Amino acid sequence: MPVTAVVGAQWGDEGKGKVVDTLARHADVVIRYNGGNNAGHTIHNQHGTFRLHLLPSGIFHPAAQCVIGPGVAVNPEVLLAEIAEVERVGMPTVGRLWVSDRAHLIFPHHILTDELEELARGGSPHGTTKQGIWPVYSDKVGRIGIRAGDLFQEQHLAEQLRFLADRKSAVMRGVYRHEPVEVKTLQDACRRWAGRLGPYVADTHPLVQEALRADRAVLLEGQLGVMRDLDWGLYPFVTSSTTLPGGASAGAGIPPYKITRVLGVAKAYTTAVGSGPMPTELGDATGDRLRSIGQEFGATTRRPRRCGWFDGVAARFAAEVAGFTHLAVMKVDVFDTFETVRLAVAYRLDGRTLQTVPHTAAMARVEPVYEELPGWRRPTTGARHLTDLPVEARAFLRRIEEIVGAPLALAGVGPERADMIFCQEGWA
Ligand code: GDP
Repeated sequence: MPVTAVVGAQWGDEGKGKVVDTLARHADVVIRYNGGNNAGHTIHNQHGTFRLHLLPSGIFHPAAQCVIGPGVAVNPEVLLAEIAEVERVGMPTVGRLWVSDRAHLIFPHHILTDELEELARGGSPHGTTKQGIWPVYSDKVGRIGIRAGDLFQEQHLAEQLRFLADRKSAVMRGVYRHEPVEVKTLQDACRRWAGRLGPYVADTHPLVQEALRADRAVLLEGQLGVMRDLDWGLYPFVTSSTTLPGGASAGAGIPPYKITRVLGVAKAYTTAVGSGPMPTELGDATGDRLRSIGQEFGATTRRPRRCGWFDGVAARFAAEVAGFTHLAVMKVDVFDTFETVRLAVAYRLDGRTLQTVPHTAAMARVEPVYEELPGWRRPTTGARHLTDLPVEARAFLRRIEEIVGAPLALAGVGPERADMIFCQEGWA
């Protein structure tokens, strides 16, 4: 059975939630491997519309075991609210949702630090979602983080919290001129979380290894996209974890060679939330049209997303770095009323042509070189096979495949679960 990593091919928000929700139907285990609640996956299904920030999208398939891996930063309050939300519509979570005891926890002071640091940057913020993600990863790297398993180690936790409160208070007072972090506040939070997360926190390693040994279908669910990867994205406008399949391996606890398929998920155009370069961004009526038809507003922050044409250079770069074995192109239907569609096939910079993503400062100055293709001006949402699509839409998808260099496995033609074309065997 396949072990499939679902990886964002652009700046995030590519529609990975819907892809994972679709693929999870046949998955035995679905594992979230990176990030925190700084981005969301929107899922429309028979129960309603859900914005999941932490729960694996497989949660709506009762037969799937869902794991929040060690690579994820968990805000317990957000997780508990999401658990309550899916339980309300009758989805069981106890006995099938597992939070790795190695996953790091987000505390209120992480969120506060994120806010204070963005404020301190004045006119040039990084555009974070202010959910405390980089501060928690920073504590993880600094080896002072609190992990989910620590909640149940009373003596060890008490010592950790005392040291943490001391260090955080020094920074709050000295750097931000802010109130200290009280150890009692930390202890109270931990006590509350231990009481409520007890049924979910576990060593997830045996479960994952057993799934691999038994040749079960495993889905690895990533957050954000390659352009936001800590190493290969547009630093510093990146997230604080790796979005690549290497991150899936480490963040889920699966050896790299056991990942059999890497599905890069892209939209038929490009969107970004937050600051940083986005060469194909459209600041005009076409950008507004994409935003309005595609409903491009952040799942976490409701911020309007920046919209632009498909960036073939960035998507090919993502395919190379992440090693996409297959490609999913979502939201093809958003172009249904367009006369023409464009794709960036190269960048121009200082009189030179670039075929790859350069250093961030150079990326901010590149000019995209576009190819224009005819639009199809017909609805695609009812299509269930590639051959149901207008020839112009098929030509557009073929061109994306060629540019990116990975075969098309899925195409999204609407927000509902059923609005998906399976282009190859083994994905339906
Ligand atoms: P993710 O973070 O990558 O899962 O992306 P988001 O969930 O933030 O954004 C994807 C949005 O697009 C969600 O509202 C999806 O329901 C919607 N969506 C996904 N695929 C399609 C599609 O093919 N067509 C349309 N119209 N909407 C889609």
